[in-house]
Amino acid sequence: MSEQTPSIFTKIINREIPAEILFENDRLIAIRDIAPQAPMHLLVIPKSENFQNVTELAAGDPQLLAEIVSTAHNLATLHSNGEYRLVFNTGESAGQTVFHVHAHVLSGGLQEHTLA
Ligand code: IMP
Repeated sequence: MSEQTPSIFTKIINREIPAEILFENDRLIAIRDIAPQAPMHLLVIPKSENFQNVTELAAGDPQLLAEIVSTAHNLATLHSNGEYRLVFNTGESAGQTVFHVHAHVLSGGLQEHTLA
């Protein structure tokens, strides 16, 4: 399935589904991933549903993409050692399951993991 409206992330933003929210402002929200792949695994999610993936976001609102990067840095500094991996799955064959753009922010113990 490639279209879900409203997305599960919009339901979290609207407090219709519970989540551990670590940061929020008027443009984005950061939550803990429900199925962590690293000791710290967060999702930074624009509140807008206008962008399905990072390619659309980069073209449509590059400033918001920059805010995602700075938020990832701040959260990795607060909740881990400041070093992090930033992942945007783009397309079903790349592992994307939620078509509301989001950054995975992973930190801790990643030197033993491949990039897959
Ligand atoms: P994608 O596969 O790159 O689209 O990433 C979707 C991510 O959302 C996955 O890592 C899921 O574990 C995560 N996820 C799905 N539902 C929830 C939820 O309700 N709370 C937190 N994370 C979720």
